[in-house]
Formats: sequence, structure tokens, C-alpha cells
Amino acid sequence: MADYDCDLFVIGAGSGGVRAARLVAMTGARVMVAEEYRVGGTCVIRGCVPKKLMVYASDFKREFEIARGYGWVDCEPRFDWKKFLMTKDREIARLSGIYTSNLANAGADILYGTARFLDPHTLEVKGEEGTRTVTAGKILIAAGDRPTRPDLPGIEHTITSEEAFHLPELPKTMVIVGGGYIAIEFACIFHGLGVDVTLVYRGPNLLRGFDEDVRAHLADELRLRGLNVLLSCQHQKIEKRADGTLVSHLTDSLTVESEVVMFATGREPHVKTLGLDKAGVKLNDKGAIAVDDFSRTNVEHIWAVGDITDRMPLTPVAIREAQAFAETEYYGRPTQFDHAEVPTAVFSQPPVGAVGLSETQARHLHREVDIYLTKFRPMRSGFAGGDERMLMKLVVARATGKIVGCHIVGVDAPEMIQLAAIAVKAGLTKAQWDSTCALHPTAAEELVTMHEKYVPAELAAAE
Ligand SMILES: Cc1cc2nc3c(=O)[nH]c(=O)nc-3n(C[C@H](O)[C@H](O)[C@H](O)COP(=O)(O)OP(=O)(O)OC[C@H]3O[C@@H](n4cnc5c(N)ncnc54)[C@H](O)[C@@H]3O)c2cc1C
Repeated sequence: MADYDCDLFVIGAGSGGVRAARLVAMTGARVMVAEEYRVGGTCVIRGCVPKKLMVYASDFKREFEIARGYGWVDCEPRFDWKKFLMTKDREIARLSGIYTSNLANAGADILYGTARFLDPHTLEVKGEEGTRTVTAGKILIAAGDRPTRPDLPGIEHTITSEEAFHLPELPKTMVIVGGGYIAIEFACIFHGLGVDVTLVYRGPNLLRGFDEDVRAHLADELRLRGLNVLLSCQHQKIEKRADGTLVSHLTDSLTVESEVVMFATGREPHVKTLGLDKAGVKLNDKGAIAVDDFSRTNVEHIWAVGDITDRMPLTPVAIREAQAFAETEYYGRPTQFDHAEVPTAVFSQPPVGAVGLSETQARHLHREVDIYLTKFRPMRSGFAGGDERMLMKLVVARATGKIVGCHIVGVDAPEMIQLAAIAVKAGLTKAQWDSTCALHPTAAEELVTMHEKYVPAELAAAE
């Protein structure tokens, strides 16, 4: 590949791009990475990390309430949004700096600017410091995705999650639109920070694709905590009054006034500016880059990983796809990333953790399944007078006795599900889970002490 400027050119220094670039540069190959915004990508700059910091900030409100129930008095704290933003931005800059130096230490060159194909082996990188043309033997596209908003009158007055990380002031009122994890997480974050939030979703229930019991339980818990949730409801237009107030005109002539309206209704692969036609790279019917199990596109020397392929838009997945690419192409170990049993979380309040199949999916795939389900008041908040309830559900394939799905709603659910995912991925049976001794007193012990099969109340009544 001596005729090219570099052996591997990576488009995008996000979760997938950084992992691939580092691993490949460590083999001694000449690697260049183009980044048009900030090194670290969505996860570090405007996704998982700043969001989780906001979740932590928001969670404290409830912690102070619980503390009162345990005898702590005079807990009347005040939240300083500007101070939080400053600390959060400092932390994000620190992390981005670490990613940048990790790339440099591995020997990869970073080119700041927007990359686009001129032909299958040539890219142009256009940045503030000028335009450069680079040729590459192999190319990895890891350009991620971007938020989309519907085409509605007044949509220009609204924001997406990207701006929500930098609101100059904490609003008093907010409308958040969407039923997926990003909408729900931001609704909980701002609600916890004291904003009067209305969550608007056009579907009949939140979190499409998750287990039905999880969806129902979460909606109940969100309402219990005072979040205003409007389901089967959607925007017709957004009107901006002279005083800056936004009026959401919704289905059935309903109107909601707020200072901010945030849409979190979808994201699309960031393909538009890449000039893919110049390289002959094909998209699939969802508008994402079409790849095979080795992340190969239809062009022999071009690969794509992460959100731009729309397989499973999660940071650890982008990282593992990138790693599999590097292992296959540069370390002589052909590797495919297995997208089954990937654990996932919603950092709502209360949070959700899930791995494996929902009950509906399991019934479709395995026909006969047994369900184990418990709902209980967790000790910590229950003691303080809280009426929140936790849900745990195991889905078992009857023929094999294997646990094929585990679903938790409640405090620490994401932490628990990471560990439960090891057992589900390993294909352990319900009997093996039950042979594991409980750790008392914890909420997690319920996972190994659910002995009775669950029969929904309506079925029990009919029997
Ligand atoms: C609000 C939010 C919260 C999230 N929370 C979670 C979470 O809790 N857990 C989780 O696992 N995932 C979460 N995600 C998803 C996660 O951030 C993504 O799955 C992950 O970042 C995908 O990595 P990637 O490498 O595919 O793309 P990205 O990380 O998006 O990186 C793509 C990079 O490419 C750059 N780029 C794009 N086009 C070009 C170009 N033409 N030239 C040069 N550079 C370019 C972009 O600037 C960007 O830096 C969240 C996402 C959002 C939006």
C-alpha cells in the first residue's frame, strides 16, 4: 500500500473510529482519522457521558428527599445549572483530551475537518485550516448518526438533545417529544432538576421494543413521580409568542405552553456529506450503510461500523464492531461481533435494564415460555415513605430451561443487568440461577429467589 498517503483512513473520531484507529495504528500501519467536530464523538461530547452526568445531577433531588426520611434535617439544597454546566464541560474536555492523546500515542494522525470521498481511494478533508486531499488503501466509515426532527410549522423554534446539553438557563417549563430512551431520559433529568416537564408521545406507550410489563411499569412509575406524560398525542405545530413562550398545538386541540420544546423523535445515519456515490458505497433500505457480518461494505476496501450502519446504536456495540474489524483485517483473527444478548439500559428515574428477549419475542421464538415476575417496594426508599415499586422479570424457554430474557425497572437496574447479562449470554438455566445463593439484604437477591411461575391476574381469575 506504499502508493497511498496512509494505510487506513478513518472517518469520524467517535466510539467506533477511535477504537479502530488506535488498534490499527498500534500494528505500525499508517493511520489517519478525520474529525469534523470534537474527538470522542457522540458518546463523549453529546451523548452517554454528559447525559449520565446530568442523570447523576438530577438524581440528587430524590436522594435529598429520601435523606429526610432517614432523619437528615434541613436538607433544602438549591441547584446551580451554570455551575453544573461549567464542571460538566470541563470534564468532557478532559475526556476528549484523553481520547486525542491516546490516538496520538498510538501513532494515528488526526485531521480536523469534514471528510468526503472524491473517488474510492481519495478523500478530501475540509476544515478551518484549509482543504487537504488524502489517498488511502483502506477506509473505515464511522461517522455516526444525527438527530432528526419532523417537518412541522414552527419546528425551527425547537431544540434536540444536542442543544439540551448547553441550555443557557434552566427553563421553568419544557415539552419533550418522543417515546424512546433519549426522550424519556431527558424528561426525567429535567423533571428531577425542578423543571415542569410534559412528555408527549404519539404512540400508546413508551419504550417501543421493550418488554410490555417494563413499558407499563415505567409509565406508572414516571407518573407516580409527577411527570406529566401525554400518550397517543402529537404536535400539529409550534407557535412562538412575542414574549418567547412556545405553544405546542397538539392532537385534539390540546395546547401546552413552555419555555423550551425538545424533539427526540429519531436519529438518522450521517451519510449526506460523505459523497458515498463517488466511492460507490451502497445504503440499505433504512438509509444506513449496508454491511455484512464483518462490517464490509459492497466496496472491497471500505468498511463501516457504529451508528452509521444502524445495527444497534450503542457505544459498546460501535466499539466491538470496530475491534472486530481491526482483529480481522490487521491482527489475522477473523472476528464477527455477535449482536445477540447485548444488555441495554434506559437511565430514566427509575432506570431500566434489559438483556435478551422480551416476553413477546420469546413466545414468538420459543413458543412455550415460563415467566417469573416480582414487584416490590425497595427497602431504601420504602423506609423513607416512598411508594415506588421495583419490577424484575425473567423469561425462561420451557424446552431448555434457559433464561432468555431478564428485565429490571428500579434503582441500580443498569448495574444489575450488566452482571445478569453474563449469565444470559452464557445460556445459564433458571435452575442454575436458583442454585446461586442470595446476597442479603439487596434488591438484586430477588433475581435468584423467584420460585413461583407468574400467572397474570386476569388468567389466574379465569382458571
Ligand atoms: C443523547 C444520547 C445519549 C446516548 N446514551 C447512550 C448510552 O447511555 N449508552 C450507549 O451505549 N449509547 C448511548 N448513545 C449512543 C452512542 O452515543 C452511540 O451509539 C455511539 O456514539 C456511536 O458511535 P459511532 O462511532 O458510531 O459514532 P459517533 O460517536 O457519533 O462518532 C461519529 C464521529 O464522526 C464525526 N463525523 C461525522 N461525519 C464526519 C465527516 N464527514 N468527517 C469527519 N468527521 C465526521 C462526528 O463529528 C463524530 O465525532 C447515546 C446517544 C445520544 C445521542
